[in-house]
Amino acid sequence: MTIELVTSQIEDQYTSGAYSKRPLTLVRGAGSTVWDDAGNAYLDATSGMGVALLGHSHPAVVSAIQAQAATLITSAEIFYNDRRAELYALLHEITGFERYFLCNSGTEAIEGVLKIARLLTGRRGIVAAKRSFHGRTLGAVGLTWNPAYREPFEGWTPEGVTHIPYNNLTEAATAITGDTAAVVIEAVQGEGGVYPADPDFLRGLRDLCDQRGALLIVDEIQTGLGRTGRWFGYQHADIQPDMIALGKGIAGGVPMGAVAWNGRAIESGTHGSTFGGNPLACAAAIASLTALRDLNAPERAAQVGEHLLERLRADQPASVREIRGLGMMIGLELRGRVTPVIQALQARGVLALVAGKTVLRLLPPLILTDAEADHLADTVLEVLRDVTN
Ligand code: PLP
Repeated sequence: MTIELVTSQIEDQYTSGAYSKRPLTLVRGAGSTVWDDAGNAYLDATSGMGVALLGHSHPAVVSAIQAQAATLITSAEIFYNDRRAELYALLHEITGFERYFLCNSGTEAIEGVLKIARLLTGRRGIVAAKRSFHGRTLGAVGLTWNPAYREPFEGWTPEGVTHIPYNNLTEAATAITGDTAAVVIEAVQGEGGVYPADPDFLRGLRDLCDQRGALLIVDEIQTGLGRTGRWFGYQHADIQPDMIALGKGIAGGVPMGAVAWNGRAIESGTHGSTFGGNPLACAAAIASLTALRDLNAPERAAQVGEHLLERLRADQPASVREIRGLGMMIGLELRGRVTPVIQALQARGVLALVAGKTVLRLLPPLILTDAEADHLADTVLEVLRDVTN
């Protein structure tokens, strides 16, 4: 019996069932490559769900985690901590925001956004977008559009959420009222199919929020920290949101989420987290953000992403309806189902994501080399040319 069989059998026996699994056991990663238990290498264009911005096991992150693990792993925010203070200062340098709430995942950052928006405005209404994805906890799933994720929990999700079509300012103007606490929007809709925001849409939302006293909140969990070719997706529209949510790669793969906003602090006791802002995750985040900055990761993502888009568009196979993207967040809308394409890519040593039933989503690490980018484009084009649907 191989290790793979034992691993997958044990997982299948005990799993919650929440995930549909691919038949692959990953055991190691370095840079843009991951290896399975038989020693086969794969180019990881999933980045572990958009997390491994710096690739896998980046040496600076590894040594920061090792050093901090031997120093102090846990210390709740009821005490001050040197690593946390350092991270706050670094986040301020990178984002320019004045206040931060640290948590442990993207969906928790969205819960934070909802609570903080309510506390700051005293209002209840939330405007979100159709096709949006904001996470799986009850508040976040209430903002998420996909009925398959939301409807099983109806009655338990927040009231007062209005979903407007993405990139539609006319409907936004009707939906945003004097009762709206916040508009929560992705800079590029990721899970929804890789749809970049029209910069005029984001600018229009900014104006409408200003006129009606609502907060403009950008969910930068997938788009943030360089992914789209700028530090933050909203920068493509030259706007300043009131609040952003961060997650995914903020701590190099160690679970962390963050809410950043401008304005007053919330009252003590209104929100909290045992693990939020723990020294281990903070040390990993300091190392990750520093490395992203030192590598000019956003600029690199803009260049390599543009190259990838050009290569894919120049040779667009007949099986592809449309290619969308911004930086290293790329979606290929297929004429047929995406699952066979994912399987064929895996057989050729490339791991990719889906976004719905027909979109192939590429979220490679931002440290992808030119040779890896060309290999990725070649393999994707090769597989898509073979697809007959
Ligand atoms: N918001 C966006 C835009 C996301 O892409 C995701 C995850 O894919 C989330 C929120 C939820 O993050 P997490 O899975 O860390 O809870």
